[in-house]
Amino acid sequence: MAIDVAIVGGGLTGCATAYAFAAAGIRVALFEAERIAQGSTALAGGVMTSEPGPAFSAIETRHGRRAARYAWQAWRRAALDGAATLRRLRVQCRLTSRDLVQFAGAGFPYAADAGTRLTREWQARQQAGLEGALIKRSGLTRDIRTEAAAGVRTHDSAQFDPYRASVGLASAAATRGAQIFERSPIRRVKFGRHEALLEADGGRVRAGRVIIATGLPTALFKALRRHVTPMDTYFVLTEPVPAAIRHQLARPAIILRDSQAPPHTLHWVDEDRRIVFGGADQAAVPTRLQTKTLVQRSGQLMYELSLLYPAISGLQAVHGWSATYGLTADGLPCIGPHRNFPHHLFALGMGRDGLAGAFLASRILLREHLGEPNRSDEVYGFGRIL
Ligand SMILES: Cc1cc2nc3c(=O)[nH]c(=O)nc-3n(C[C@H](O)[C@H](O)[C@H](O)COP(=O)(O)OP(=O)(O)OC[C@H]3O[C@@H](n4cnc5c(N)ncnc54)[C@H](O)[C@@H]3O)c2cc1C
Repeated sequence: MAIDVAIVGGGLTGCATAYAFAAAGIRVALFEAERIAQGSTALAGGVMTSEPGPAFSAIETRHGRRAARYAWQAWRRAALDGAATLRRLRVQCRLTSRDLVQFAGAGFPYAADAGTRLTREWQARQQAGLEGALIKRSGLTRDIRTEAAAGVRTHDSAQFDPYRASVGLASAAATRGAQIFERSPIRRVKFGRHEALLEADGGRVRAGRVIIATGLPTALFKALRRHVTPMDTYFVLTEPVPAAIRHQLARPAIILRDSQAPPHTLHWVDEDRRIVFGGADQAAVPTRLQTKTLVQRSGQLMYELSLLYPAISGLQAVHGWSATYGLTADGLPCIGPHRNFPHHLFALGMGRDGLAGAFLASRILLREHLGEPNRSDEVYGFGRIL
């Protein structure tokens, strides 16, 4: 079999990329080891933030203001583009637009200077000409309804079901000629001067280009593992919140993220009756400790939620879950070519905010494939961390 582009990995990143390439008329085939979007995509909280995970000021210090500004602008465009694509394709994934409110709590467990730090972060963004409004105290009381020292609101985030979104994108890609192969692990990728050769269980595939969208660098690319740290993140879903106390909690129209590192996120699901609360990230734990750690972290998250909103004390978590994502040293994903792997493009280390990153990757990789790379995309490339 010979194709223009082979995509390895059928999470949201692989599916969004397959759609973008097929829509551009490129002969593309996607190979997924298991079933479409049943890796970390299926376990994502479903919040698509219009900004990447790390603090803007940290990226500005590391890569300069211009690069940082571009990273934020490109991410926001990708979130808008992703939502628009899902709407245009009529993918049934419960897509809802939301504002993102980042806040610094007042009092335990937040640091005494948390509010000052968040205000400085907002100032750095303002100076770079980025979107975001500092919320006044009255706004904090109205929207997030917890003791907060500072808050910043941005538009253009969204929430959706990432599994359904991925399946919808894969299906739209197939309609435009993409070939989708499930239960087709790629065992090996070799490359010569003109093409790459992929080995699957059932045979070999020749491709002009291969895109690696496996989240973490798998055994296929051991040399890249040093760039991506496996991290576990944890989520709890509460039982329905009694109507009488819902008005004491964050408004459903917003996604809440606190200023801790790593942050907690809170959003409403199930017609705004239940809360999904996430955080407590740590370096990935060995498989034998996962169940015990999940029980401990779920309890911790419910306790932290009750510190934010004492009104929910006694409310139970009906479900807790965790999974592993890949994190780079600066928190931005690695998207694009790598000098040691001809004919390859990568989208790895998408982080815990990788849903918008998936759409960003699809755009950057398409530009790269078409020979029209944008130099500013280098802030997402391997070159910045090599
Ligand atoms: C618990 C959890 C919650 C999260 N919540 C959020 C959230 O609320 N918002 C957000 O923006 N992000 C979130 N993230 C991050 C987000 O899930 C990912 O960044 C996003 O889903 C993109 O995933 P991906 O397609 O890059 O990787 P994955 O979904 O991991 O897909 C990679 C795929 O590659 C396949 N694969 C691996 N090796 C091979 C091979 N050799 N051959 C073929 N296929 C292969 C795997 O089977 C897998 O399906 C969360 C992550 C976790 C773990």
